[in-house]
Amino acid sequence: MAAERAQSADQTFDAGRFGRWLRMMLVSFYTDEEAAVADALCAESWHQDGIARRSTTMSGGGYTNGSAASRRQYDHPIVILGGGMGGLMTAVDFLRQDRKDFIILERYEAFGGTTWRDVANETTKLQTEKGTYVPEYLDPEVHADEEQKTWPSRDSILDMCVACAEKHGLEDKAKFGTSLEKVEVKGDLLAGGHIELSLTTEDASETLKCSALISCPGVFYNPIDLKWPGREDFGGYITHGSYDGINYDKLKDASVCIVGHGGFTIENVRTCVERKSKKVYVVCRHRHLAGPKMVSWMVSGAAVPIPGPFIVEAFQKMYDLLGVDVWSHPVVNANADRSSAVLTQTTTFGVTDIYFLACYYKVCEVIHGEIDKLSKGKVHLKDGKEIECNVIMKCLGSHGATDFDDIIGFKFYQGWWVNGEALMPVMAPAKGVQAKNFAGFSLAPGYAGQIITNRYFIDHPEKFVGVRDWLPKTTRDDHYECNYIYKGAHVLATMVLLQTQFPDLAAELAEADKLKAYKHMKAHPLDKHLSECLAEWKMYIKMMKDNGQIPADAEEIEYPYNEEMIMEMDGRYKAALTAEWEKMMSKKAKAGCTSYELVHALARAGSASSVKESVGYRRILEFPAWRYRQQAKMKDVTLARPDRQVRQVLERRLVPDCIVDRCAEGTGDKLQTFYRISPVAVAVAAKRFQLLEASLSAKVEEQYICSKCNRLYDTLKAMSASFTCECGQALASTAEESEARRDRLQRFHVQCKDLLQLTQELENLPGPQFEHPPKVKKPRGAAKQAAKAKTAPVAPKNPTSQPEPLGDPPANPPTQDLEAAPQSGTAADASEISKTLEEEVCSVQSKRTRASLEDRLRGAQQSQPEKVEEDAIVFVRGQPLPLSRVLGDDDLQEQMTDQEYQSFYDVDRDLQHRKLRSLLSYR
Ligand SMILES: Cc1cc2nc3c(=O)[nH]c(=O)nc-3n(C[C@H](O)[C@H](O)[C@H](O)COP(=O)(O)OP(=O)(O)OC[C@H]3O[C@@H](n4cnc5c(N)ncnc54)[C@H](O)[C@@H]3O)c2cc1C
Repeated sequence: MAAERAQSADQTFDAGRFGRWLRMMLVSFYTDEEAAVADALCAESWHQDGIARRSTTMSGGGYTNGSAASRRQYDHPIVILGGGMGGLMTAVDFLRQDRKDFIILERYEAFGGTTWRDVANETTKLQTEKGTYVPEYLDPEVHADEEQKTWPSRDSILDMCVACAEKHGLEDKAKFGTSLEKVEVKGDLLAGGHIELSLTTEDASETLKCSALISCPGVFYNPIDLKWPGREDFGGYITHGSYDGINYDKLKDASVCIVGHGGFTIENVRTCVERKSKKVYVVCRHRHLAGPKMVSWMVSGAAVPIPGPFIVEAFQKMYDLLGVDVWSHPVVNANADRSSAVLTQTTTFGVTDIYFLACYYKVCEVIHGEIDKLSKGKVHLKDGKEIECNVIMKCLGSHGATDFDDIIGFKFYQGWWVNGEALMPVMAPAKGVQAKNFAGFSLAPGYAGQIITNRYFIDHPEKFVGVRDWLPKTTRDDHYECNYIYKGAHVLATMVLLQTQFPDLAAELAEADKLKAYKHMKAHPLDKHLSECLAEWKMYIKMMKDNGQIPADAEEIEYPYNEEMIMEMDGRYKAALTAEWEKMMSKKAKAGCTSYELVHALARAGSASSVKESVGYRRILEFPAWRYRQQAKMKDVTLARPDRQVRQVLERRLVPDCIVDRCAEGTGDKLQTFYRISPVAVAVAAKRFQLLEASLSAKVEEQYICSKCNRLYDTLKAMSASFTCECGQALASTAEESEARRDRLQRFHVQCKDLLQLTQELENLPGPQFEHPPKVKKPRGAAKQAAKAKTAPVAPKNPTSQPEPLGDPPANPPTQDLEAAPQSGTAADASEISKTLEEEVCSVQSKRTRASLEDRLRGAQQSQPEKVEEDAIVFVRGQPLPLSRVLGDDDLQEQMTDQEYQSFYDVDRDLQHRKLRSLLSYR
């Protein structure tokens, strides 16, 4: 299977690239052509650093951002705060890149971090597999220690951290027993300034100058506590489930009430089973989802993030044992056909099998509720339920470091850079889950991306300056004590932006992405892992029997996963991703513009005359660069409850084109759909439209073509050849094609307008003003019928576009040149609709003139009016319906798939044309 996965990355469907696309959600994935375009654009560099990005080189799965000589050297050391996994991974990465000018500050006397030194219990084990949980994650040559267990214990992880530090000589670079108390930025860090750190040790304090500060302070500091009335009467044992404070002797034969349902609950259910507790009750307000071990294995081993529906399906196999329907679980937000699912919960997935086993055998029971009070040997819930128990274990989560905001001088984040300082990034594990594609439950791969990015800007901080204002910004909220802890979505948005800006950074991140599946599969081949999970499953059943927790003759429940099932799911999700990839590629091929092009073109907009000349719209290009930057400063636009018309625009045009992201929150009655429109996405769309417009509006000379030998004739030549080709074949006019282009152009105008209106109305976005605003609003439903009634017998208002007398070629045939196109008023009003029809009339008239000219030359009869099919059939969700019915019914139109809507639109338009033609040929 590992080999199979590795292979898939080399084949036409590039899993790594597609994975990046999924992560970025919008439009930023790279084909080779796009990368080439980006390189070319970057060569013209809008940054001042002038670095030719082609010089970037890959080395052994790692990457060198230019040569060591080209990166910035500093007067003072770089300080890494924290000796946990974050600090350790950062330090090891620096050494790999031959950067040695750093020191590590750590409050403890050794590596390992608060997580493993302080928060974990003696019984704690890594819940995710060891394969990717290595400080040397970014070194493709180093893999998890074979001697280590698949789910190593706390002590084994601490040993691993210490051994890794020793191997790399990091002990010499660490200042242990040292606490950072205050940070002050002195001057401009990119122009000779420095950061002053106030430090305290047990018996002294000192200041330290540094040039950059990478903070990895961790997020687990104090257990969240609750004190219930009646605790003095309870008479049993009350403890926290973390911070190594449990008296395990108290668990034997006990009835334990665990409060909360996060990672520590999962761990302590296992501990209670192992320590022979009689019964475990889990009291919680929200029953968060726990991740079965095989699902954790699947996501870590996947080269491409796995879409939500497959995760739900995989969870379901285990949850079936408990009779829980994961699809209807509050954590899961799926669309109607379950082709997409977003999973949202405030804690990460605790990874476990034993919890499910304990629940299945009723050794563990989950009770929804909140504790009201305690009494002798009892817990009373607010809904009146009572639980008899003699141990209460609080697993309510942890507070972050409540002093860290003040220590670091936090005012705001730009990306994850404190106060927008290129040399002061903060790394902290994001809390909770909110995702629709899953790349893993382990922390290291996520940290790796941030580490690479931090290093990138330490090496070349001037690059950061160009993008700083584009990054998502979060300002300090004084009601919240730990502003330094950000959400996963904040990291994601930052990554999206940075990867669209810096192709070389994106390339390195992609390499690092590949390491995850590679390392995981090397450490945990499927057959080995599955048999280990199975053995553990059986071992715990036996343990519960031996402990007397379940009857000795209890049936042995089968492990819900097997190799065949995993392989089958693996094949299906890959096929689904491949199909999605192909769909996107064909869309992109049509759009013909990349986000790379856009971002760089935008940034250079003020100066790049070549771009100005190459496109049809002038104003968008004359839009000064600073205004584009101003636009990009905006946070994503969130549109909570768009009215129906806006929603239709979003759903039909922008969501399928990935310009707008549809999100959902809540479930059932509380389900709320909202849309996110990133300013970058808006700009990408604008650029696409611009190119499309240029190609559509390019003047096409009226020509005649021979269908046999494809020879082209201009009008004069065609006339002199009596509309017959040299090969004897009658010539056909290309007018139909130009009319089709004109139609597309009009539709395109509508699209532009929708987009601009949306963004401008919503957030006052100073969007580019198109020189030729849209002229056509395609009337739909009732509006359309009203328009039809009003405009059927339209007489052209503009005398210059009156039909020429029959027989004479038009002196000034109506042109498709945009410069000559009339400006429009508001889209919805009837006058505009009639203007549109006017144009159509003009176009038909001009064609009619030409047709009659042809007929005359051929001596042919006057053309007969076309037979117009009155009621064509269109499809709504696969059901055939008469066009007339659908025209009048907005709801039906709304139910159509995009394809159905497009063909309905085309059929209707075609019908209108033919009616017009027929009408005119009789006038
Ligand atoms: C019990 C438990 C189990 C977990 N299991 C998993 C798992 O299975 N898989 C997984 O991927 N993740 C797991 N995690 C998540 C875990 O937090 C991360 O894997 C990782 O250990 C976090 O490392 P860190 O360096 O960010 O933070 P920490 O380990 O907290 O290290 C931060 C360090 O910074 C130092 N520091 C902070 N402020 C200062 C200051 N002002 N001065 C000096 N020093 C300072 C602290 O002393 C500390 O050592 C688990 C977490 C817990 C608590």
